[in-house]
Amino acid sequence: MHVPHAEPWRVAVVGSGPSAFYTAEALFKTPDARVQVDMFDRLPVPFGLVRGGVAPDHQNIKAVTRVYDKIAANPGFRFFGNVQIGRDLQVEDLAARYHQIVYAFGCETGQKLGIPGEELRGVHSATEFVGWYNGHPDHAHRTFDLRSAKRVAIVGNGNVAMDVARILLASPDELGKTDLADHALAVLRTSSVREVILLGRRGPAQAAFSPKEIEEIAELPDTAVLVRPEEAALDALSEAWLAKDGARSQQRNVKFLQEHAGHDSPAGHKRLQCRFLVGPTELLGEHGDLQAVRVQHMELVADTDGTPRPKARDSFEEVPVDLVFKAIGYRGIPVPGVPFDQKKGIVPNLDGRVLDKVGGSALVGHYAAGWCKRGPTGLIGTNSLDAKATVDAMREDFAQGARLAPTRTDIADTLRARGVDAVTWADWQRLDAWELAEGQKRGKLRHKLPSIEAVMLVLRDLRAGASAQA
Ligand code: NAP
Repeated sequence: MHVPHAEPWRVAVVGSGPSAFYTAEALFKTPDARVQVDMFDRLPVPFGLVRGGVAPDHQNIKAVTRVYDKIAANPGFRFFGNVQIGRDLQVEDLAARYHQIVYAFGCETGQKLGIPGEELRGVHSATEFVGWYNGHPDHAHRTFDLRSAKRVAIVGNGNVAMDVARILLASPDELGKTDLADHALAVLRTSSVREVILLGRRGPAQAAFSPKEIEEIAELPDTAVLVRPEEAALDALSEAWLAKDGARSQQRNVKFLQEHAGHDSPAGHKRLQCRFLVGPTELLGEHGDLQAVRVQHMELVADTDGTPRPKARDSFEEVPVDLVFKAIGYRGIPVPGVPFDQKKGIVPNLDGRVLDKVGGSALVGHYAAGWCKRGPTGLIGTNSLDAKATVDAMREDFAQGARLAPTRTDIADTLRARGVDAVTWADWQRLDAWELAEGQKRGKLRHKLPSIEAVMLVLRDLRAGASAQA
């Protein structure tokens, strides 16, 4: 769609993960438009879940940031890191300075199970563990007692569960060469974990992991993948569903799991046990310490659309474990001034147009992209199509004059006047080079600092060095 406008088209993007960058990219591709994108992040560093979520031993996935670097090189792009909406700036500040605002702040917290015992010591959310080993400043202070834990259960069997399992089972020496946080490496080196149990509430045909993720664990040295033959076998419903609606990845998962069914683990090997048709009902402990997961056995019944869903049977089991990680999905955290759907944990929207409340009417000039728009599903690339769809709506509205009417000064001046030390893209590039160089000194890919304060201290030094050289 043609977007004729004499002035630049000014857009604020809140968040700097994949969906934020794909939004900027789609905006910059608008024909004949002079677009200015200002991207805000509460952290002083960009890239959201690519930096703080993607596992450190998956550098091929993290390399997608090179694409984002190219997007950031557009002359219309500015980064404002270390700027929190709701603290340093309010939504009204943005509304007074931009034609459109896009919320792309993702889903930052883990879902709760809502069963007794969730507060026991030894029960953690995968989100916290992932943030901890990735050096995310929100999670650097967390403690995970891997030294005394031998058996660990992970609730859920999506790709986050696989990341957690792999980090627990992989060789710390190998992980130490990546950008895994120093504090996490020190703890992983003392780990006693020998067995990780994945608890899937549905069957092998509905396992949420990607085939290459389970295959990668089977390829870890001295690690066996185990499946009980009775749990690897498909029930009639799953068999019919897999044949009719199953994706190739699901067929590949079933093949892999059935090939591993009944295998024994060689002596001295660590084990990944894939359990199916077990739903946790209670976390059991003594004196506040976790001791076991009580699971209920499940059977699959067809949902209204035929999808197999779990139905509880009258049969229970206690699985003794030392730690539990809940990897049952992410959930958004509300941002002050931005409508929020408490039930779904996302920003209420219709095809990316933000609604003033759930089922309400569209708020002119406000949009959502990525996980805070559609919920925490899909791979990084999924966010590209998703962002393009939001930008289509933005172009259509902009061309029709449905946009905010910015009147105020540049946001950079406002931030300066408020004493906010915003991190620019040039600052980040200096920090990026510093992290890589510090990593090299330590025999690893990248060295991340564990707190916002530590990052800002180094950044100020780097800025001072750069201006002394100029
Ligand atoms: P996910 O793929 O949605 O998996 C969530 C898992 O938790 C499912 O097994 C689900 O079972 C289970 N679950 C949900 N609620 C439960 C409950 N109350 N009790 C027991 N089990 C429950 O979520 P995710 O692993 O957090 O991943 C989020 C997205 O990021 C996914 O699209 C994933 O592919 C992507 N990701 C990709 C990679 C990668 O490519 N390497 C890495 C990490 C994440 P049901 O299926 O029965 O609901």
